[in-house]
Amino acid sequence: MSWYLQRAGVDHVVLERSEAFHAWKHERWDAFTLVTPNFQCRLPEHPYDGEEPEGFMRREQILAWLDRFMEKLDPPLHEGVTVTRLRAGEDGGFVLQTDEGVLHAEQVVLCVGGYHRPWAPPAVERALPQGIHAVHSNAYRSPSALPDGAVLVVGTGQSGAQIAEDLHLEGRAVHLCLGDAPRVARRYRGKDVVTWLEEMGHYDLTITDHPEGNAARREANHYVTGRDGGRDLDLRAFAAQGMHLHGLLRRIDEDGVAHFDDDLAERLDAADATYDRINEAIDRYIEAQGLDVAEPPSRYTPVWTPPPGPPAPLDLRAAGVTSVVWCTGFRPDWSWVELPFLDDTGYPDHVRGVVEGVPGLHVLGLPWLHTWGSGRFAAIARDAEHLSAHVVTRASLAVAARAA
Ligand SMILES: Cc1cc2nc3c(=O)[nH]c(=O)nc-3n(C[C@H](O)[C@H](O)[C@H](O)COP(=O)(O)OP(=O)(O)OC[C@H]3O[C@@H](n4cnc5c(N)ncnc54)[C@H](O)[C@@H]3O)c2cc1C
Repeated sequence: MSWYLQRAGVDHVVLERSEAFHAWKHERWDAFTLVTPNFQCRLPEHPYDGEEPEGFMRREQILAWLDRFMEKLDPPLHEGVTVTRLRAGEDGGFVLQTDEGVLHAEQVVLCVGGYHRPWAPPAVERALPQGIHAVHSNAYRSPSALPDGAVLVVGTGQSGAQIAEDLHLEGRAVHLCLGDAPRVARRYRGKDVVTWLEEMGHYDLTITDHPEGNAARREANHYVTGRDGGRDLDLRAFAAQGMHLHGLLRRIDEDGVAHFDDDLAERLDAADATYDRINEAIDRYIEAQGLDVAEPPSRYTPVWTPPPGPPAPLDLRAAGVTSVVWCTGFRPDWSWVELPFLDDTGYPDHVRGVVEGVPGLHVLGLPWLHTWGSGRFAAIARDAEHLSAHVVTRASLAVAARAA
């Protein structure tokens, strides 16, 4: 947003409570790599410029690429400034209360990301036996940063599946409780699946045209990894190698025994069904286009299936579990925005980032704000360019009104 506002000559400031790129610096694990291929890293006039467009940058490479963008951008940035309250001004515009003083603005663009408050199921979190070390995915760093012993990983979205693999590769005993995230192949018929989906126009699908509508915004991301050049994450293969898979973590009793839903087979099957569905969609596209590419591989056959019978409870202490990594997602926190801008579900009520109910208020960078890439490097520039046009028009009208 700052890139486009600078170019349009709109007076603005960027407030950041921590430091630029805080989440990339401080809320990703050490072995983190992008899940989206490098070629999808496209900030304004700053596309990925390295030698591996179909590769996946590691955390330090992402930061170096972002630092180079920052040098080009040179924004009017104020770091270490937290906006604690945002409210309507008495004569129009907005009042921002910060820990460094009060600011008045004609317009505000909320660029606070979509991952505000780490969340874990409260009753289960409270029931965790004393002495078990617990971290959320955004505070997980590496296997060696956890106490020795087995680890319970709860949730199998992108974070959970990758963190479980990180621990598994280090030889840690892992108990993994599945959520409802689907999975996707990394490569299929000679290309990265993201490359296929991009060619197929999937990433231009807008939220208004999405068959699931706004519900798509709340869905867990497909699990897959960019680690070591990128590969599938097959939880069944992990299980065959000794990882302990469980269904949904239902409760932990006072005696420290964890209980799981009897749905492990169903969850694994559902993740595989999505994997197959995406590959089949690519097959249909290849056929329709008459493309001369690699033949489809044989369909995925499960390499492990859960043993029959009800799920066994897990006595955490007896199993040597010394830590838990909650990979159960985030919840929004808009409590500091004292403006009527949320819909019934607590989500900002906007159209492509324009909050029509509160003129002058905008949001940017939320997952599926407009398309799949809205909360990612893939489409943030497109969204910012579109939204900046609204901001610039309003700013010009305000200047004209003052001059009249
Ligand atoms: C585990 C994980 C993996 C991801 N992998 C990928 C990937 O492979 N590819 C990809 O393209 N994207 C990925 N993303 C998404 C990406 O990290 C960003 O979340 C997304 O790009 C949105 O960026 P943003 O700048 O809008 O928000 P954020 O990066 O969340 O930045 C928001 C900033 O706002 C600041 N802030 C918040 N509240 C206030 C306040 N009240 N006052 C002042 N400052 C405030 C925060 O300190 C923060 O620095 C991933 C996200 C996660 C969580």
